[in-house]
Parts: sequence; C-alpha cells; structure tokens
Amino acid sequence: MSARLEPCVSIDFDSSALDEVVTKAKDWALMHGVCMRSRQNFSPDSINFAPFVLVPSTFPKKEFEKAVELQTLVNEMIYRIANNYDFLKTTLAITNTVDPFTAQLFKIYTTVQEEGVSQDIALGLIRSDVMLGAEPEMPLSSFKQRQVEVNTIAAGFGWLGPASGHLHRFVMQELGHGDLLQQLPENNALEALCGGMLKAWEIYNQPRAVILFIVEETTYNICDQRFHEFEIRKLNPNVRVVRRSLTQLGKGGAVLDAERNLIVDGQEVAVVYFRCGYAPDQYPSADGCEWDARLMIERSKAIKCPSISYHLAGTKKVQQVLAEPGFLERIFDDAEKIAKLRDVFTGLYSLDLNEEGDRAAEMAIANPEKYVLKPQREGGGNNVYGKEVAEVLKQLKGNPERASYILMDVIQPPLLRNWMIRPSTQPMLVDTLSELGIFGVIIGNSKEILYNSMGGHMLRTKIHTANEGGVAAGLGALDSPFLVEL
Ligand code: ADP
Ligand code: MG
Repeated sequence: MSARLEPCVSIDFDSSALDEVVTKAKDWALMHGVCMRSRQNFSPDSINFAPFVLVPSTFPKKEFEKAVELQTLVNEMIYRIANNYDFLKTTLAITNTVDPFTAQLFKIYTTVQEEGVSQDIALGLIRSDVMLGAEPEMPLSSFKQRQVEVNTIAAGFGWLGPASGHLHRFVMQELGHGDLLQQLPENNALEALCGGMLKAWEIYNQPRAVILFIVEETTYNICDQRFHEFEIRKLNPNVRVVRRSLTQLGKGGAVLDAERNLIVDGQEVAVVYFRCGYAPDQYPSADGCEWDARLMIERSKAIKCPSISYHLAGTKKVQQVLAEPGFLERIFDDAEKIAKLRDVFTGLYSLDLNEEGDRAAEMAIANPEKYVLKPQREGGGNNVYGKEVAEVLKQLKGNPERASYILMDVIQPPLLRNWMIRPSTQPMLVDTLSELGIFGVIIGNSKEILYNSMGGHMLRTKIHTANEGGVAAGLGALDSPFLVEL
C-alpha cells in the first residue's frame, strides 16, 4: 500500500463527458502551443499536443512554498561550487578517471582556467527537481520534499511549465471549477528565464550582438525553445536569437576573432544558451568538431548559460559529495543556509572503489528496490532501478568503473489518480506520481553574485509504474500543481 493524495476534483466522468472535455483540452493544447514534435511521425511542418494529465495534481502548499523559497539558496550553492576550482577538481578527480564524458568536459574547464577566462560572468538558468517523500503509514501532512537533482544545463519546460498551468485553468473552468483557480499558483517561468538571458545580454553591452541557442540537429521539444525565442523578441525587439547545433558550429559555423569575440555568420554573440551538449551522443563526429566548438565557446567572451563550471557543478557526483557530512560547510559559512539545504537532501552514497563504496554497494545489493543507481548523465533514461541495481553492482565488484556511478535512496511519492492524455491513445485512468521543478536565475562573476532569483516552476507526472518520467521520452506528462493545505 502506497500513500495517496486525493484528486483536486472528482474525475469520475461518464464516457461522453470525458470525451467532450478531453477533445476540447487537446484542441486547446494544440492551438496554444502546448506541443511537441512527434518522434514516431516526425515532420518539421507539424506538431502534436504534448502528453498531459487532465486535471492539475494535488500538491501540499507548504512544500511548494518551501521549494520556491529555497531556490535562491540552491542558486547560490551552484554559483559557489561553479566558482570553486579546487572543490570541483577534488570532487571529480576519480570520476574523471573512469568517465570519459565528464573527463572531456573537465579538460575544457582546466584549459580555460589555465589560459585565463575571457568572460568572468556566467548565467545560470537552473532547475531544482524535487519529489514528495511519503511512507505508507505517514500522515498526509508529513510528506516532505526530497531533492532529485539540480539541472544546470538545458533545464527545460520554461514554456511548457506555465503553459500546463494555463491549460489546466481552462480545463478546470470547463469542468465547472472556476472557483478553485486561485489554488493554481502563478508561474512566470518563461519571463524569468528569458529575462535572465536579456539581463546577461545587457551586461555584455553590445547592441548588435545576438543570443545563440545551441540546439539538437532535430528538436522535438520545439515549443519549449521557440517560445523562449519569441519571448525574448517580445521583451526586447532589438535582440535577435540564432539557433545552431554544435556540429554546425564545429564545422566552421563559428569563429573567435582576435579579441575572443564569438562570431557566428558575421554576428557577434553576447549570450550562449545551451539546450544541447549534456550527453555524449550530442558530440557525434569522429573528428571531435563538437568538442572543438564547445571549447571555442568556452574560450570566448560570450556569456555562457551554462559556463563549463556550472555544467560540472550539476553533475551527480557533485550532488553526492555535497550530501556528505562537512561538505556544504566548505561551500557556505552560514549554519542556517546549510540546514535548509540539507533538509531536502536524501541519502546519497559514493561508489568509489574503497571501503565506503563497498559498504554502499553491499547495502544496495541486499535491498536493491530501495536505491537508484546513477551514472554521470543528464537527460533521462540513464539510471538503473530495482533488481537491476544489484545485478549491475555485482558485475562492477572490484572494477574501478563503479566510481562513475553514485547511489541514491529511492524517493517514494504519494500516488494520485488522474487521466493521462497522450496523442493517438485513448485516455487512461492511472495512478500517477509527480516531480516538481523550480527554476532559478543567477548571474555572477567569480567575486560576487549580480542577480539571484526564483524563476517559476514546472510539474511532470508519470504513470506510477514507470521509473522515469521524461515527457518527450513517452512516459511522462505535463502537469501543474493544485495547492492544498494538508
Ligand atoms: P536525469 O539527469 O537523467 O534527469 P535524474 O536524477 O533527474 O536524472 O533522474 C531521472 C528520473 O528518475 C527523475 O526524473 C525521476 O523520475 C527518477 N528518479 C531519479 N532519482 C530518483 C530517486 N532518488 N527516487 C525516485 N525516483 C528517482
Ligand atoms: Mg532529471
């Protein structure tokens, strides 16, 4: 028996009532850009609505507000790690010996550190993801958020987050619950993230310079990038956005001039916003041209979002080390801040090839269902769950490569019944669980923080039997929180 939350309104519809509201909601989504490109039937000329749950998910107000309040501190934590070369070097030393991808990123980091950085200011558009932890016997009021991870590169849903809230407002009104809309919190994620990019652009102070989005060769989550571009134009009509892949840039699409200005097709770049570059398959060319592009960008005067140091600050290994006793104390000298951050951490364990790592591995082999095994990867679909945790750890016994993983306690969110709506599929009434993401915007140089703010939220919900809830990957769905006092 798992803990449960009650749906925000009755979802027992007869088939014709269900059909009516679902059809209308799908059209609303399609006509308001709550959409993605189809992986199955890809065409650059069409989009599908993105999977969503029909009504917003009940979420404890207290925990939502706590997450919102904590965000500027999470931002500061990432800022402090990113500006601490020694900390990153020590923390990732072993990882770099066994994980070639992290090692490549680290090589770029060391190269620019040794050369001297040309742009001391970095922009962080980050997202801290949490789930409610709930034991079956726990009273609803004691559900407590646990941090899943902090994303420091390509943190998506700045558009789809608020858009889901708008969709749910429409659905709630259609269902005759317009009186409950005040329980759907405001969400200014798109303005906040794009505002952050524009602030960085202003700091760069070159009126003709552009903002460069680094994108995939094919972007499926297109609305969540284009709406950012349109919002930038809306907020400042003088700022142009250009989109390029790392491959295009690496094959001659970008150059550094003598002053280390980054030039793309004759246009100087003020801000580089990475929506790609966090996974090995995003560096596909045998000649390493994508890596050349990444290094070129890092060497340039453009303000990076993220800089390589913010990217590294978001690795799973850093997250695990920060949870070790005494490590937050190396980053902060404020006991209250430390306590607030530690309060949302869950059990994280090193799997380095030493006694401590052996103990963690044995603990997980004995009780694999209680842990998640995570490599140094982003973007979903990389983690190991359940019985497989034991199998993988047994195979890795005595193998230094075990250190490329970290181990984490499984967080068990309460279940909630909802209708899952997916393209070309009948609505499904399922038990779901959710992950809340809070956005943060931080701008700083190596000496001080220049801007630090919370930046809206997103909620992703998945069928409870799925290990991971990537919306584009096909197991998750867009959602928005419906705040309740428990
Ligand atoms: P990624 O960088 O690939 O997004 P995450 O650490 O966010 O990696 O894990 C991916 C997904 O796996 C999460 O969105 C969540 O659904 C699930 N997950 C990760 N860690 C845990 C955990 N400790 N307990 C339960 N589910 C988890
Ligand atoms: Mg994640």
